[in-house]
Amino acid sequence: MNYLQSAQALYEQMVRDRRHLHQHPEVGMDLPETCSYIMARLTEMGYQPRRLGGGVTATVTGKPDGKVFLLRADMDALPMREESGLPFASQRSCAHTCGHDMHTAMLLGAAQLLRDRAAELNGTVKFMFQPGEEVLSGARSMIEAGILENPHVDAAMGAHMIPMIPAGLGGYGTGVVSASSDHLVIRVEGRGGHGAHPQSTVDPINIGVHIHLALQELLSREADPAELVVLTFGKFQGGDAANIIPSSAVLEGTLRTFSEPLRTHLLERIDTICTCTAEAFRGRAQVTDLCSTCSLQIDGDTAAAVAQGWQREGLKMLQRGEKMSGSEDFAEIAARVPSTFFVVGGGTAQDGCGVSLHNPKIRFREEALIYGAAAYASGAAMWLELH
Ligand SMILES: [Zn+2]
Ligand SMILES: [Zn+2]
Repeated sequence: MNYLQSAQALYEQMVRDRRHLHQHPEVGMDLPETCSYIMARLTEMGYQPRRLGGGVTATVTGKPDGKVFLLRADMDALPMREESGLPFASQRSCAHTCGHDMHTAMLLGAAQLLRDRAAELNGTVKFMFQPGEEVLSGARSMIEAGILENPHVDAAMGAHMIPMIPAGLGGYGTGVVSASSDHLVIRVEGRGGHGAHPQSTVDPINIGVHIHLALQELLSREADPAELVVLTFGKFQGGDAANIIPSSAVLEGTLRTFSEPLRTHLLERIDTICTCTAEAFRGRAQVTDLCSTCSLQIDGDTAAAVAQGWQREGLKMLQRGEKMSGSEDFAEIAARVPSTFFVVGGGTAQDGCGVSLHNPKIRFREEALIYGAAAYASGAAMWLELH
């Protein structure tokens, strides 16, 4: 039996895992129930899992002195109410509307598949079940806790569900496939006072407006027109009444780029422009990068090696050209070790999968679990075979 056929035999178990996780979602960096469930399931399979950086890790080794390939799934949900109408829908104030329950269940499936064929592995597969992808902190937390060492990781692969694509179809990209993301908070400090006496105040709203305009000009004048870049401020708060000049104001926004040099340049310039604009109007401004991740860069050789594994399995994986303006914190792994990433079709509009990720009504075809587990396992096995 190949990995795909073996994954078919695991279908019911993966559905049980997925539905359990789906019904018990947790948000952010602290996922106690989810982690205990994964620890228990891995232990059942004969692994010796351990907690690391808020997540869970385990390894399976065939040839002891071989290389190490890392497989990553994210486990966190979103702080929103589910409206899928499914019998196992979340009753909590959070929900798995980004499909991370699917990722976790398919990686558990892959762990079983690789465990069953451990003797054939030409090295080690390391599993990374991470928290906090949605808050762009989980990958970094596990990296800081040492996920890439002991044993040292040589290459890695992550995955994501994708709606509006039939289950049983997947894809992968090359080059840069998702944007960097920086959640910026700009705090403007002025001096409050009476609206009728602006001369004795420092108006932070006026400063905020000039900062906003200057930052839009920054993109237009300093970013290469051929580069994709977005700077959106979705929040601008300050003041409570028409005749009171407040003492502070806050702008919050997100910067997205596909180029690390451009990102570095813009972050530096945003800081300068905010500080200097505030000073020009006698106030002060401070920029904080609340959470961030770099753009996701695919390594061509890793992608090609893994794709050979998929081909041998007969998995339908299309090479995709488009970039996602969303971001993915697996990028932090990919910035440190050669990596690849694949997407798994979650079903079409007819299957109830016709809305975007993070939509409260999203549903996925669970057959996608078979496909995802086989893609994880066969990709890792082939990469080890070739290295
Ligand atoms: Zn998401
Ligand atoms: Zn996601």
